[in-house]
Amino acid sequence: MRALTESTDAAVLAAVQELGGQPFQGRQVLQWIWKHGVGDFAAMTNVPARLRTALAERFTLRGTKVQKVDDADCGTKKLLLALPDGESVECVLIPDGDRTTLCVSTQVGCPVACVFCASGMFGVRRNLTAGEIVEQVLVARGELPPGRAITNLVVMGMGEPMLNLDALLPALQRIHDPNGIGMGARRITVSTSGYPRQMERFAAADPSYNLAVSLHAADDTLRRQLVPTAVAPVRDIIAAAHRYFGQKGREVTYEVVLLEGRNDRPEDAEALVETIGALPSTVNLIPWNPVEEIAAAKGLRRPRPERVDAFADFLRNGGLKVTVRRQRGADRSAACGQLRLRTLGAN
Ligand code: SAH
Ligand code: SF4
Repeated sequence: MRALTESTDAAVLAAVQELGGQPFQGRQVLQWIWKHGVGDFAAMTNVPARLRTALAERFTLRGTKVQKVDDADCGTKKLLLALPDGESVECVLIPDGDRTTLCVSTQVGCPVACVFCASGMFGVRRNLTAGEIVEQVLVARGELPPGRAITNLVVMGMGEPMLNLDALLPALQRIHDPNGIGMGARRITVSTSGYPRQMERFAAADPSYNLAVSLHAADDTLRRQLVPTAVAPVRDIIAAAHRYFGQKGREVTYEVVLLEGRNDRPEDAEALVETIGALPSTVNLIPWNPVEEIAAAKGLRRPRPERVDAFADFLRNGGLKVTVRRQRGADRSAACGQLRLRTLGAN
């Protein structure tokens, strides 16, 4: 059975009409799905019972089911969703003062295979559908205590968003749409490991979302050691990011996951200063969050704080704007599981 979250508004309205409902009842059904986020047809109290039953015979409301909710330190909540084909995917809610950020996934696994990342360890199993991406928001919203809302969305969970734009763009549209979930585009950030052609397509999307580029290193040889499947040279990735700024007027954030002795040396900082150049951007330094199996197998280490500070100072002296992501309780408890959460600019 098809989930209504996979259907266009027009298809939902048409289905309601076919089942004998009025157009206004179709609109009420849409509101129950998106505004109220109900997980059950029975909760659509102003929709006649006969229509609800007829809908339930034809459709499911959602395709995913909550499999597990893990409460971690600092109020962080990790949600594991079961997908209809037996796969599962995570999203994570991170409260931080007045903000509540949700980190969502776009693929089951990831084909990019960055050496330091848990999501890429076993390759990619499949793309998520648009409905499965949006449902992470619906489900997570339902987990919040009364009075709290998701204020920021980061597409930084499992998967490479640019390799699933066909699902991601309609999903973001739905999340942004005032008749959908209604989240401002400025509060939505998509992170990519750098696919210039797809970044162009993302730039053509309306509205304008924020873009983060996981650069990690400015030198191509070093970058290819960290992101082994990277085919685009760094200069093409930076050029695409600069074009994004030109088109959207939005600063791009560069993310650099720091690994001791690998990409945190003075020459690595120098290369970044030279390559990123003068266009407005922010570099977000992320000291590596160790993944046990990877640390043991590949000898990777999180840099000591003084090395991170020295790296940040070097970039700042070179004229770059820098933020450093400090470790939080949520990281220590490995709340993110396979997901690597990065709330941008959270120092
Ligand atoms: N695939 C996209 C988005 C998901 S990863 C991308 O790579 O940008 C989101 C961010 O988490 C990326 O910047 C990634 O480099 C970072 N990341 C992945 N594993 C990490 C780890 N173990 N510690 C710290 N950051 C990590
Ligand atoms: Fe994929 Fe991003 Fe992990 Fe790299 S860091 S393997 S691109 S999820």
